[in-house]
Amino acid sequence: MKFGTKAVHAGVEPDPTTGAIMTPIYQTSTYVQESPAKHRGYAYARGANPTRNALQKSIAALENGKFGICFSSGMGATDAVIKLLSPGDEVITSNDLYGGSYRMFKRVFEKFGIKFHFIDLTSSENLIPYINNNTKLMWLETPSNPLMRIIDIEVCAGLAKKHGIMVAVDNTFASPYLQNPLALGADIVMHSVTKYLGGHSDVIMGALIVNDEKLYQDLAFIANSCGAVPGPQDSFLVLRGIKTLHLRMERHCFNGRKIAEYLKSHPKIGKVYWPGFSDHPNHSIAKKQMKDFGGMLSFTLKQDSIENATKLMESVQLFSLAESLGGVESLINHPASMTHASIPKEERLKNGLSDSLIRLSIGVEDVEDLIEDLEQALAGI
Ligand SMILES: *Cc1c(COP(=O)(O)O)cnc(C)c1O
Repeated sequence: MKFGTKAVHAGVEPDPTTGAIMTPIYQTSTYVQESPAKHRGYAYARGANPTRNALQKSIAALENGKFGICFSSGMGATDAVIKLLSPGDEVITSNDLYGGSYRMFKRVFEKFGIKFHFIDLTSSENLIPYINNNTKLMWLETPSNPLMRIIDIEVCAGLAKKHGIMVAVDNTFASPYLQNPLALGADIVMHSVTKYLGGHSDVIMGALIVNDEKLYQDLAFIANSCGAVPGPQDSFLVLRGIKTLHLRMERHCFNGRKIAEYLKSHPKIGKVYWPGFSDHPNHSIAKKQMKDFGGMLSFTLKQDSIENATKLMESVQLFSLAESLGGVESLINHPASMTHASIPKEERLKNGLSDSLIRLSIGVEDVEDLIEDLEQALAGI
């Protein structure tokens, strides 16, 4: 089955009692049993819920995976993966991770004796010196936030396999429409479902997708034991959102390309970070592992200052100034004062996050209107 057909149909069957075409919201905490321990696969809703089950099947199908598990947030999903590890284990990951992942690794899990190596993985061979007998997990995120760096999933997974290291990929920025890490050798795919999968800025949720049954059982055990499960109402909203994922992604990609090209040719713009440009350092890897280049991009101003960036963000009318991404509406965000404000300035600049760096999550509006909005805002700086 092709992607769009799966987006509409996978995991969803008419409701057995009424024939309702949409999966009902099973708003219940428990299920009545015929006699003790004799039930129809549902005992208590932390363990299983029919609305959530339909969603898990749908998301697994979109990643061409066998098993999906949904969590109450992307961070809840990541937390479950790290809980597979034991004190003394080591993790290799990249140096420009999603801020929340970095914070969880450093401030929650390091004190339990798990060691994290944050390294530049845009050249895969950089990870080789960090592999030792304690290395148990490689955590990859590509494209990265906000500089749209690209990591070669297949090459990293190949190196990991040789040493029996498990590979997890945060596939949030690409969505399952653009990139399927399991097919490239990953063991676990993680999504912040909050973003493109939900797609309408109205749900917080996470998901893990795996092929290996033992790994699935281990993660499902953690999900049920630790309890970061999503509710049925949110599961319904995401089931609904997924039905248009392919249509939304096509428009996100189309608009993203137009705006990247527009910005690149604008005299007031410094750099534009978008993996679709042939001069992006890992463009050929992006081309190889992604179907298209997505709706996320970042840029700097030639007159690089926080003041100019602030002025631009206050002048746009259609772009909303907000954190998050992947929704139908276009968002604008300033890493230096918002998502990355907690990083000391020197370190921030060293990592390429200059004062005027602005990140856009391009929505599905008419792109002419978005460009006109940027044009009028840029005229004022
Ligand atoms: C948002 C995000 C997360 C965290 O997901 P939540 O649903 O907010 O918990 C993780 N990784 C990436 C790349 C994200 O954008």
